[in-house]
Parts: sequence; C-alpha cells; structure tokens
Amino acid sequence: MQRFDPQTVLRPELGELKAYTPHLGTYEVRLDANEAPPLLGAPAKKKLAEAAAKTAWHQYPDAGQKDLRKAIAKRMGVKPNQVIVGVGSDELITLLLTVASRAKARAPAPTVLTTTPTFVMYRLSARIRGQRVMEVPLDADWDLDEAGMLRAIDMAQPNVIFIASPNNPTGTMVTRSRLETVIEAAKSSIVVVDEAYVDYADQHQLDLLEKYENVVILRTLSKIGFAALRIGWLVGSAALVAELDKARLPYNLPTVSQTLGTLVLEELGDDISHICSYVKQERARLTTQLATIRGVTVVPSQANFLWLKLDVPSGDVFTRLGKLGVLVRSFHGRGGRLEQCLRVTVGTKEQNDRFIDALREAL
Ligand code: PMP
Repeated sequence: MQRFDPQTVLRPELGELKAYTPHLGTYEVRLDANEAPPLLGAPAKKKLAEAAAKTAWHQYPDAGQKDLRKAIAKRMGVKPNQVIVGVGSDELITLLLTVASRAKARAPAPTVLTTTPTFVMYRLSARIRGQRVMEVPLDADWDLDEAGMLRAIDMAQPNVIFIASPNNPTGTMVTRSRLETVIEAAKSSIVVVDEAYVDYADQHQLDLLEKYENVVILRTLSKIGFAALRIGWLVGSAALVAELDKARLPYNLPTVSQTLGTLVLEELGDDISHICSYVKQERARLTTQLATIRGVTVVPSQANFLWLKLDVPSGDVFTRLGKLGVLVRSFHGRGGRLEQCLRVTVGTKEQNDRFIDALREAL
C-alpha cells in the first residue's frame, strides 16, 4: 500500500484543536446543552408532522431559502435580503470568518476578537481557518471590559468581533453603552452581536442595525425548542448578506428544515412564548433555591441557563452530579476563575428539582 502522512498537507492549527463533542453517555437528567425543555404540545407536533409529510423528497431544497427568509424578515422587521440562514448559527459564524479574511497592515493573519469566557465556536472556527484569535477577559461582573476591548481593537485590527449577549456561559448581558463604545471604535471590523439567548432576556439589540452598518445580529431556533431543525440566521446590511451568500453552499438547509422553520415562525409563536415563559419562571425558582445553598453563588441570568460559582473546585462536584444521573457543564478544565464554575440549563420543573437535590448531595 502507498503510505501517506496526512500531516504533510493538513493545517498545522489542527494539532492544537480538539473536535467539539457534546458529552456522551447516558444520564437521566441532561442539563448540559442549553436546549429548551420538551414542552411542545400535541397540536404543534401534528402540524409539524403534516407539513413534513408534504416534502418533495426527490428535489433539492430551495437554494434561495425564500419562504424562510421572508418569515424571518417579517419577525425581525427587516427586508428578506438582509437575512441569511445557516445550519444553526454555527454555520454563519464559519461563513463570516471564511469571507471576512482579508489581511490588514497590523494583522497579516486575519484576526478575530472576542471575550473570555464565551461561546467556544468563535475561537475554534477561527483557528481552523488559520486566523489569529484575541480574547479579552470579561470583567469581575462578567461584563465587557471596555478599555481592554478598545486596546485590542487598536492593536490587533480585527476583521470580526464576536460579542454574545446574553453571553454563554455566564448568562449575562453586555452593558449597552459599553457595546456601543466598542462598535464605534471598531469602524473597520464586522461586529457580531450574537443573540442566541435573546428570547430569555429583558431586551434585544436589533436597533443597532439602524445605527451601525458594521453590526450583524445572530439568532437561532435552537434555544427555544427547535434545536433539531438546525436553523440559525444572521441579519445585517443587504450588501454584506449578498457577499456571505456567495460563500454559502447552495443547498445548505434541507427542505424539511426550511418548511418546518417557516411554519414555526409563522404559526407556532404562542408555543414558543409558552416555552420561554415556563423557562423564565423556572429560572427564577431555581435561582431562589440555589441562593439558599451554602457555598453556591448564582449569577442573575438573562438566558435559559444559570452560571454558578461554587466555593470548591467544580470538577469533583460535576463528577458526583454525573453519578447521581445529572449532567451539567463544568469549566474546571479551563482553570483560573472558571475552576469553580458550573453551567446548568434550566429544564422542566422535575429536572430542576432533581438537579437541586443532586447538587445538595454532591456538595
Ligand atoms: N451562539 C451562542 C452564544 C451559543 O451558545 C450557541 C449554542 N451553544 C450558538 C451560537 C450556536 O447555536 P446553533 O448553531 O444551534 O444555532
């Protein structure tokens, strides 16, 4: 057999990366992935099944994502040509990085600026493309470090800046004035405001689009009950969306996802509202209960998960929770101030009770 060492052609950056694999294994209570609890009613499920049954199985999906873009544009109050839909917002993160990769004077390797801790795919997607990643730590309240961000923008000339608000894993919103200061300083960057969790927050930042041409907003159906569809979208200027469309694979979104996504947006608004208000109510209950547990500090959350600081390293607690059948996300492997942190998704009332009981035992 002719021998071949893949390393001779593969990007060197692959050597430093690990594949993003969700936690495998079987747990009775999974509160690790920020999915919505399974609350969809029978009538909604019937509608989805009936719509899926009408699929033209032999045909390619609509390459222009026409109906879905229209439904999204209506919901967001923008024009359809300002919307592009991806296989989850994950795909749009990669599309942005693929397209916005021109070298700059002080940044021969295209540079991405983001915060830490934040959603890991910003870093991973950038590194896999050989881009440089700068991460400015969030401040002590897990808010944007305005001065740090301004310094980094000046120094590193980033092409793309990712800011999640509400942020994952901290559940906190970025202070609006700090966000605007950063956007104003980042005149030569695309500023991505990732609103994956906005349906659980008190406010959104859509109006930024009217003030700043360099802002794009990311949204997703994944956190509000429809992670199975893999639908995320970006809203931005029509000019930028047209460029992103050149890099999008023509049939990226399966027909079933397009049809059902459109149906969700046009007809299942009440179901989504029900899921969101249930989760917000449970979030409040969970927050109050956790506050009574000694050694646990809860950060007030604007998302569908809670960010907990323990007074012991979180690794052992995570393992004990797992043995009790409850899976959460631990960040102990990251060290530093994340060493004692856990992230737990708000689930059903029963799941949340199981988590609280297990946490008391694990501590
Ligand atoms: N942005 C943030 C902040 C997230 O936490 C996630 C999912 N964990 C995503 C984007 C990606 O979501 P999806 O690809 O499912 O739309």
